[in-house]
Amino acid sequence: MPDSFFFFFLLFLSFLFQLGEPTGASFSGHPSCNPHGDPPVYGDCWYNCTLDDIAGEDKKHRLRKALGQTADWFRRALAVEPVKGNLRLSGYSACGQDGGVQLPREYVEEGVANADLILLVTTRPTTGNTLAWAVACERDQWGRAIAGHVNVAPRHLTAEAETLLSATLIHEVMHVLGFDPHAFAHFRDDRKRRRIRVTEQATDEKLGRMVTKVVLPRVIMHSRYHYGAFSQNFTGLELEDGGGRGTSGSHWEKRLLMNEIMTGSVDTRSVVSKMTLALLEDSGWYRANYSMSDHLDWGRNQGTEFVTSPCNHWKGPYHCNATQISGCTYNREAEGYCPIVSYSGELPQWARYFPEANKGGQSSLADYCTYFVAYSDGSCTDTNSARAPDRMLGEMRGSGSRCMASSLVRSGFVRGSTTQGNGCYQHRCVNNTLEVAVDGIWKVCPESGGPVQYPGFNGELICPAYHELCHVDPVPLSGQCPNSCNFNGDCIDGKCHCFLGFEGYDCNLRSCPNNCVGHGECLADGVCECENGYTGIDCSTAVCDEQCSLHGGVCNNGECEFRCSDYAGYTCQSSSSLLPNLLVCKDVLEKDALGQHCAPSELSILQQLEEVVVMPNYQRLFPGGPRKFLNYIRGRDCDGAAKRLACWISIQKCDKDGDNRLRVCHSACQSYNLACGASLDCSDQTLFSNESEGEGLCTGWGELDSWL
Ligand SMILES: [Zn+2]
Repeated sequence: MPDSFFFFFLLFLSFLFQLGEPTGASFSGHPSCNPHGDPPVYGDCWYNCTLDDIAGEDKKHRLRKALGQTADWFRRALAVEPVKGNLRLSGYSACGQDGGVQLPREYVEEGVANADLILLVTTRPTTGNTLAWAVACERDQWGRAIAGHVNVAPRHLTAEAETLLSATLIHEVMHVLGFDPHAFAHFRDDRKRRRIRVTEQATDEKLGRMVTKVVLPRVIMHSRYHYGAFSQNFTGLELEDGGGRGTSGSHWEKRLLMNEIMTGSVDTRSVVSKMTLALLEDSGWYRANYSMSDHLDWGRNQGTEFVTSPCNHWKGPYHCNATQISGCTYNREAEGYCPIVSYSGELPQWARYFPEANKGGQSSLADYCTYFVAYSDGSCTDTNSARAPDRMLGEMRGSGSRCMASSLVRSGFVRGSTTQGNGCYQHRCVNNTLEVAVDGIWKVCPESGGPVQYPGFNGELICPAYHELCHVDPVPLSGQCPNSCNFNGDCIDGKCHCFLGFEGYDCNLRSCPNNCVGHGECLADGVCECENGYTGIDCSTAVCDEQCSLHGGVCNNGECEFRCSDYAGYTCQSSSSLLPNLLVCKDVLEKDALGQHCAPSELSILQQLEEVVVMPNYQRLFPGGPRKFLNYIRGRDCDGAAKRLACWISIQKCDKDGDNRLRVCHSACQSYNLACGASLDCSDQTLFSNESEGEGLCTGWGELDSWL
């Protein structure tokens, strides 16, 4: 990679992990593990649970180690514009879910040096078979996540599950970094403006149903190279529509990406594709190092049809239609079977690949498609997990072996019924030909595949085509572009469409867009160097003050916006429905209860809101509590004013449109200062309204009269 790749003084992503439970006692309403069990189980626990649900030192150690490896991986895979000075959190939103995590006060006050992302990691048991979950909880002014909450269930922190743990953590951190519909709303284009198009939802005629596609430029570009889909009929990469809330819309479609790490189910063979790295790069927050991606076999070079057609139109090993037959899996690395399930109910209309309405493949995530799935002992390549090779068939297992169709059987023997039609045989690619060995005898295969016979064996082996196993593209794919457009542009039907800032027939030239729009200097290499206060590939976008994000805002070309949705998981809700779930702020908000307030949409977080957001704010406004000498004199007035302000800062009103949060009233700040003898900066307009603005356009009220 050329050095100029990191021109934007990008640094590697650095993490800070905070492992542990919220400080202080467990939250009210959550039982300690299972004291009435036999034997009783004590410990920090969210549900009634067993010893498996307690994270002991060994499990925590395993998690810490895996977190370190995860951080290393991301440091190499992604670069981010480094945070200037300490990374500071606002503390105005609840971090996480399931009660969230209280942000340590020093992260809010002093901030953290040399960090780009803070992950708060908990080990709370989960219900069902959820291994882990993660959410972003604070964003910088560009919408990039700067804090997140990751939870890993102790049940899955066993020594046996260590490889799975690594894959799971990468998957979860990807969600925090941006693979999440909440984050999509903040994605920026190359000019650092909010992206208008991230996903598109539409009825797909060929698939016969509604699909959501990611239409980001680099995702589309890398998908084209993966699938060999250079036709304009390929318009975006599908997101998962199965799996229910928590899975659908926030993962790649399993039918199309199978063992990719961002599909809805992770396993030990999961791989990170270029498409996932591209999605993060298209957020506008990171530069991806594509050499960190893995080789994804599923769908490779299968063409536009593969991505756009229903799976019963798929060819070869990607499709099977009868349980009785065995076959080779799509990459020929294992012998497999064709699982077809008879469900108790009917499948959706679009998933009916069989005459019977209740018959289909075993995975709803993979749209009930039927394809060969490896037998647990069917691997051709892994001798540890596979059954012994069948000498009667001349088989051999090992890293050089692949699954092939075959009716071979040693002369004088009869082929058994369990191994119908295929076996594992050694292969090699020499002199532009594919050779296959049976019982140590090598034979050259026909270039396009076909039958070969071996001495001492009856029957024949069906060679795969040369290109299938010898890693060359099948007949030049139609629609390829010159030099792959240097990956600086999309390739459609043989023609490059360069991204902003690139030119030339193969997009190999850099150019300053619009000559840096008067806010920057065009350097000799065609890159804009922006003047202070401006950013973006063409320096056209104004930067906001740091205070913007510290108060939960997001920057829109120099203007700090306070949208309710910019809080993680917060929405504008009718105030009357919030009040019954609040204890501390109930009285405060009741006096101001008309309209809507911006609060967590999930009831469990709403109930924890006061403990993780309101109370820390209150303690900052009323340090030391009522026992402190000065406060003793000021008494309940200061206490009340601090409590009110803490509630208003944490749960702001929404404007009439129901999307923007209203800043706290200037008068409310002043009355707090008066009551507490404090000197809070009421002119800070990222937090407080302008003095001249009417009280109807802000949150809260000030009781100035009673103090004067
Ligand atoms: Zn996930």
